[in-house]
Amino acid sequence: MERTYLMVKPDGVQRGLVGQIISRFEQRGYKIVGLKMMQIARETAEKHYGEHAGKPFFTGLVDFITSGPVVAMVVEGKDVVVTAREMMGATNPLKAIPGTIRGTYGVDVGRNVIHGSDSVESANREIAIFFKPEELVEYGRAIDTWIY
Ligand code: ADP
Ligand code: MG
Repeated sequence: MERTYLMVKPDGVQRGLVGQIISRFEQRGYKIVGLKMMQIARETAEKHYGEHAGKPFFTGLVDFITSGPVVAMVVEGKDVVVTAREMMGATNPLKAIPGTIRGTYGVDVGRNVIHGSDSVESANREIAIFFKPEELVEYGRAIDTWIY
């Protein structure tokens, strides 16, 4: 089953949106297989956002993502990478469709509440950055019978 890496960014934690954001993925039918709060080290943030190194917003992005605790998740389910991105909405919350996470909670591209992997390859890379294999849990749920 496909997995993605999702992270409530420091603004989402500060604003008390952790529960509501996690709920959206649970209610959709996705299964949380890893979950933790942490404060990201600068070096780890630079690795995570490596594709953006050198861009004008890179330093500010790393400053922001390391500025306070985040809630990191690995979420599993059918087509979860693409579907989670759809549920998040566009990178710029002003362009995000109302009802999406960013389109509900944000107005600024630098304070867009949530991160989600953009491909299966990115998901595997990001999960490996933030979670040890033993921190991911495999378990069945009775409810899965009603979802699939
Ligand atoms: P996404 O998070 O939707 O995958 P990107 O990978 O393109 O978006 O960018 C990573 C993060 O960097 C975004 O979520 C956003 O917070 C920030 N960012 C992207 N573009 C800009 C920009 N032009 N100005 C400021 N911050 C930006
Ligand atoms: Mg991205």
